[in-house]
Amino acid sequence: MSAHFDCTKATSYLKEFETKDGLSVHDLMNSKTFGGLTYNDFLVLPGKIDFPSSVVSLESKLTKKITLKTPFVSSPMDTVTEADMAIHLALLGGIGIIHHNCTADEQAAMVKKVKKFENGFISDPIVVTPTTTVGQVKTIRENLGFSSFPVTETGKVGGKLVGIITSRDYQFTEDDNVTVAEVMTSDLVTGQQGLDLVSGNEILTKSKKGKLPIIDNAGNLVSLLSRADLQKNISYPEASKSFSSKQLLCGAAIGTIEVDKVRLEKLVAAGLDVVVLDSSQGNSVFQLNMIKWIKETFADLQVIAGNVVTREQAASLIEAGADGLRIGMGSGSICITQEVMACGRPQGTAVFNVTQFANKFGVPCIADGGVQNIGHITKALALGASCIMMGGMLAGTTESPGEYFYQDGKRLKSYRGMGSIEAMQQTSTNANASTSRYFSESDKVLVAQGVSGSVVDKGSVKKFVPYLYSGLQHSCQDIGVKSVDELRTATNEGVVRFEFRTPSAQFEGGVHNLHSYEKRLHN
Ligand code: IMP
Repeated sequence: MSAHFDCTKATSYLKEFETKDGLSVHDLMNSKTFGGLTYNDFLVLPGKIDFPSSVVSLESKLTKKITLKTPFVSSPMDTVTEADMAIHLALLGGIGIIHHNCTADEQAAMVKKVKKFENGFISDPIVVTPTTTVGQVKTIRENLGFSSFPVTETGKVGGKLVGIITSRDYQFTEDDNVTVAEVMTSDLVTGQQGLDLVSGNEILTKSKKGKLPIIDNAGNLVSLLSRADLQKNISYPEASKSFSSKQLLCGAAIGTIEVDKVRLEKLVAAGLDVVVLDSSQGNSVFQLNMIKWIKETFADLQVIAGNVVTREQAASLIEAGADGLRIGMGSGSICITQEVMACGRPQGTAVFNVTQFANKFGVPCIADGGVQNIGHITKALALGASCIMMGGMLAGTTESPGEYFYQDGKRLKSYRGMGSIEAMQQTSTNANASTSRYFSESDKVLVAQGVSGSVVDKGSVKKFVPYLYSGLQHSCQDIGVKSVDELRTATNEGVVRFEFRTPSAQFEGGVHNLHSYEKRLHN
């Protein structure tokens, strides 16, 4: 009978005499056996759980100066990010990047809507005059989504406050020609200028009113406090806000041609926090010049450059002053770039190589495209990304642009590549977004790099993002790391281990051998 080792010493024996299971990330990614890898080609080995998943911190850097509570970023695509998506992602701790397949004024209005969404005190509320009609008030409500408005003699902030009109005052008024003066509430509860947020909120709570106009000594309107904002503050503790103004953070994309400078001026005037230079191939003189111009012109604006998939591309952009990089070429779910251009890189390899380099310079990177599930998010972060950009994952949600439609018994929304013919053709009539992303603004023949399609209804991001959040916490718990930062460092140091996945291992890792099943991802 062969002698066995002492069971009570198994862990110390393991440390002393055995090699660690699996591969370090360096051995995994530098193996020449398989060539370029993407997320499905490998798995992370489990670590030790000695903490609850709820303690896992998902805080991560978006750029040199912006840190988010959740590492989720929405793509600047016209079927993914407009104001509604940007507002809700920011409320949930991420950030939305508003697309630029529209005029500069339209894009600036969207940025403004995000910035105005949640303030402590709303310093420039929409104001009406006593002679404004109920019909006009209804139109403003439909366009902007607000239903209550302070009424001043001048119709502006700074004018004498004479009343407030709320939906209760006009919801049953069928004659749209009735004036605000006839239906408004003039028995007002107000706050005095200089009041702090806590006292203002106390007055609102006691008065059971929805809005508290703040006035100066002469009775002129100064700002507005909103009960709904107070509730939003309570229910979104992770919200991404600028430190000083308490406004939600907002990003927007621009191209790299001359007119984009004018566009950016408008976006900055609207309160933009971070600009994404939107190009399928970021290593161009146009982009390098644009970064330098932005840094000279708007010193406080954070600039995310890209897209890149190699260290060489990254080096030029870092040197030009990029505050963050966007990684991905050809990995997007709607993308045909690799097929048509022969250019690109498998996303896992791209993320690893670029982040290995950029992280040495303290430049955070976003893994952009190809993310289909929480596992892919975990893997991208482990490979070195600081944030994850998603298009297809967030398309089809209530907050993505466009209307739902039915096809084959399924509720769908459109989702299209910005390099699809449809997106590029829309552009050529009014702006420069898609064509400039693909350097095609002067082309007679448009060469598509994306397709146009649809995705199924995913419900609201208010449920979907918390699902991603909680799933990512559980994933980190399985790996044995308490934060996204620790996931990155423990991986880089070889503590977190990996395994290649053969095609049959991938098959095994999916649902198999069932007659039928339903895949419900969250409740
Ligand atoms: P997804 O998350 O896999 O759907 O990929 C979204 C990403 O694909 C975007 O953030 C862009 O980087 C990229 N993308 C958007 N439109 C196109 C296109 O038409 N062709 C190629 N890539 C695109």
